[in-house]
Amino acid sequence: MNVLVINAGSSSVKYQLYNMNDESVLAKGRVERIGLDSAILTHEPEGKSEVREVSEILEHTTAIKKVLDMLVHREFGVLHSIKEIDAVGHRVVHGGEFFSTSVLVTEEVKKKIKHLFDLAPLHNPAHMLGINAVEANMGDVPQVVVFDTAFHQSMPPEAYMYAIPKIWYSKHKVRRYGFHGTSHQYVSERASRFLNKPLDSLKIVSAHIGNGASCAAILNGKSIDTSMGLTPLEGMMMGTRSGDLDPAVVTFAMGKEDLTLNEVNSMLNKHSGLQAISGLSSDMREITEAMDEGDKNAKLAFDMYAYRVRKYIGAYAAALNGIDILIFTAGVGENSVILRKAVCDGLTYLGVELDDHRNETGRGIEKRISSDSSAVDVLVIPTNEEWMIARDTYELVMM
Ligand code: AMP
Repeated sequence: MNVLVINAGSSSVKYQLYNMNDESVLAKGRVERIGLDSAILTHEPEGKSEVREVSEILEHTTAIKKVLDMLVHREFGVLHSIKEIDAVGHRVVHGGEFFSTSVLVTEEVKKKIKHLFDLAPLHNPAHMLGINAVEANMGDVPQVVVFDTAFHQSMPPEAYMYAIPKIWYSKHKVRRYGFHGTSHQYVSERASRFLNKPLDSLKIVSAHIGNGASCAAILNGKSIDTSMGLTPLEGMMMGTRSGDLDPAVVTFAMGKEDLTLNEVNSMLNKHSGLQAISGLSSDMREITEAMDEGDKNAKLAFDMYAYRVRKYIGAYAAALNGIDILIFTAGVGENSVILRKAVCDGLTYLGVELDDHRNETGRGIEKRISSDSSAVDVLVIPTNEEWMIARDTYELVMM
């Protein structure tokens, strides 16, 4: 059975085709600059060289058609016919309070995703375009939606409610939802397997730190708290996002700088975080390079970033009343030896003991980086959200 995984953005579509029989990736790629006459399709078929095609792609239906054409291309394809794709799984950012698991796409499900456009205006409408584009090209192929928020629907009210006028919740569903759920769920399951300990007996803190960053407290396999909130802006400091701040900063800055709602939103989402403090880059690689060369702003950005990761781990150790496993994942978490060290060196009170040699881990492998005597197993687990989407899709379609 083959499953096509789609992550549709407003001007891009990423895809990955899995053979579920042996869990292999047959091909992956992306279409970028949808809406322009110079859109780019990059296709990476397994065992063949990468193909790049520039053409006019004005909307998502054409983008999906190009992807499907490429998958059955005589030279670069990996399938004989589109009929060999048995199901399609979509990443959907916001499932609101409607969805605590992945579901098969129906008219009712589509209505609910549309209902959530207000809560995720940059994401959910684009995902909807992806779903409709698959329908237009592939008829009634079963489609499944996998939500970034679903894993965190197990949070108790004391974790998800904001202490604000209740009518904002009852009328507009203003509450904390959390994101990166597919990743937090995946790495916690992998950690349990890696250590050969049952998930329902574990207190796990997972730190998904990439361009976006979030931390989750996972008790017996269920999320009980996470650092992102109504939107992916809350929580840890990120590449270009502020993370936590006093909400009064927003109204104060709007008044002083004469900013509109859109402008302040853009400042906090696109012009804050590592980028703002370093004045250099949102990329941790460039920050650490500049820091090594003595750049003080880069050093402050790094220190603030690491400090906030450490604070969240401490908070979640409190939420869980202890911690058995600490997981680092995503771009920064999987790759930055120095960030992991900066975070863990301040967690000795929890019994965290990093093994510096093990911490110098190679990329792409699951590894324990704590010492044998550490009270907490510290793991690096490469995340794989696409695989989780493929797996949920397979399971729902086979049921
Ligand atoms: P992600 O959003 O998970 O794809 O993570 C992307 C981010 O990971 C990049 O913006 C970098 O900041 C970070 N990253 C990737 N490779 C490294 C590395 N070798 N060292 C430090 N940070 C890295």
